[in-house]
Amino acid sequence: LDDLVTEGAGVGADAIPNDLDAFWMPFTSNRSFKKRPRLVSRAKDMHYYTPEGRAILDGCAGLWCVNPGHNREPIVEAIRQAATEVDFAPTFQYGHPQAFRLASRIADLAPGDLDHVFFCNSGSEAVDTALKIALAYHQTTGAGTRTRLIGRERGYHGVGFGGISVGGIVSNRRTFGTMLTGVDHLRSTYDREHQAFTKGEPDYGAHFADELERIVALHDASTIASVIVEPMGGSTGVLPTPKGYLKRLREICDKYGILLIFDEVITGFGRLGHAFAAERYGVVPDMITFAKGITAGAVPMGGVLVRKGIHDAFMKGPEHVVELFHGYTYSAHPLACAAGLATLDLYAREHTFTHARALEPFFADAMMSLKDKPGVLDIRTVGITGAVDLAPKEGAPGLKGYEALERAFHEEGLMMRIAGDTLVVTPPLIISKDQVGELVEKLGRVIEKVA
Ligand code: PLP
Repeated sequence: LDDLVTEGAGVGADAIPNDLDAFWMPFTSNRSFKKRPRLVSRAKDMHYYTPEGRAILDGCAGLWCVNPGHNREPIVEAIRQAATEVDFAPTFQYGHPQAFRLASRIADLAPGDLDHVFFCNSGSEAVDTALKIALAYHQTTGAGTRTRLIGRERGYHGVGFGGISVGGIVSNRRTFGTMLTGVDHLRSTYDREHQAFTKGEPDYGAHFADELERIVALHDASTIASVIVEPMGGSTGVLPTPKGYLKRLREICDKYGILLIFDEVITGFGRLGHAFAAERYGVVPDMITFAKGITAGAVPMGGVLVRKGIHDAFMKGPEHVVELFHGYTYSAHPLACAAGLATLDLYAREHTFTHARALEPFFADAMMSLKDKPGVLDIRTVGITGAVDLAPKEGAPGLKGYEALERAFHEEGLMMRIAGDTLVVTPPLIISKDQVGELVEKLGRVIEKVA
């Protein structure tokens, strides 16, 4: 019992655990990490703090989610209050007020007639939910032959079986069997030869959308349910879609009755200077998946925005039937809803999305200043997101180079995402110009150090 007390919930956040072995860490080289662990135990605004109190500048908004900065008081307070009101409330055949409020608020932010929200707890669940809604929609409307799903090479849609099936990251797929059947992939929109060192969306590459015509010709439109793409490929190294690409994809989907899903788990809630990237591109998809920025990462939450026509197609049978046999115990969890409402209030009060839009040119210039650092092959920026491709080194990615880079960043006091040989910069959107300068300086020093 004494052991449990010393290692239990009452132990201060800064106490180093006695045993790091039991936690099998996700997407981590566990053995090398645990030899030299990097721990953070507190966070505020733009910084994490190690248990010893050293400040680490957050260059990746946690994991692309802490858009308004860490531990913002209104969000903390909303969660605290919600926990004292209703700790858990089922959303199967019951409701709690905050869930309805939050759904309406999100729908108000969405473009076009994306006006219904299905809640879940993560981006992965959001993706699986959207794919299932697409399939069920076609069944419901008498087009049950439409079962094929289309994703894109280098797409990341989380780690559920739906997500890894439509996703295009080899290492996330190859050890897990046959995936969903009936899945095709569009080609990646990235072409370094024609796009290197572009700020924003590259001019070259709208024609990559025409791949969809080829897939339609191969299988026939009557077999295809949906296409899912990220408006900006995030986890595979910041791949902004070329100018006109998403519009072209929308046109082809319309021509063949294929549903278009934007996975906005990263791009939602300000990353590209708008509530949703769909707005930036002037394209209304049939569904938008979101997560991360909706609660600033403080409580897990994901969801799917669904166009009116799709939602309404399910609302046609007898009223007593369940319209969609899908849902999660924690769908619209009260603490997540409270965090979501407080986060949206904060975005509105602080004009976070407008700030991100205004900062974009400065951020892009700062990132491009790294162009002549050793080993830099390409730099891309869009919104408050940037990436630096480094020349591959012996043993990298994922092996020696990866760990050495992580350590170099930690020593420099900067938290960064590394995607293969790409350094990914996605700070909280409240970042100031001075902090952009500091971040890029640290980044430059690390690039020189590991060159
Ligand atoms: N979709 C996209 C575009 C993502 O970037 C992510 C995560 O980074 C996911 C889905 C999966 O989200 P989660 O990790 O919350 O399951």
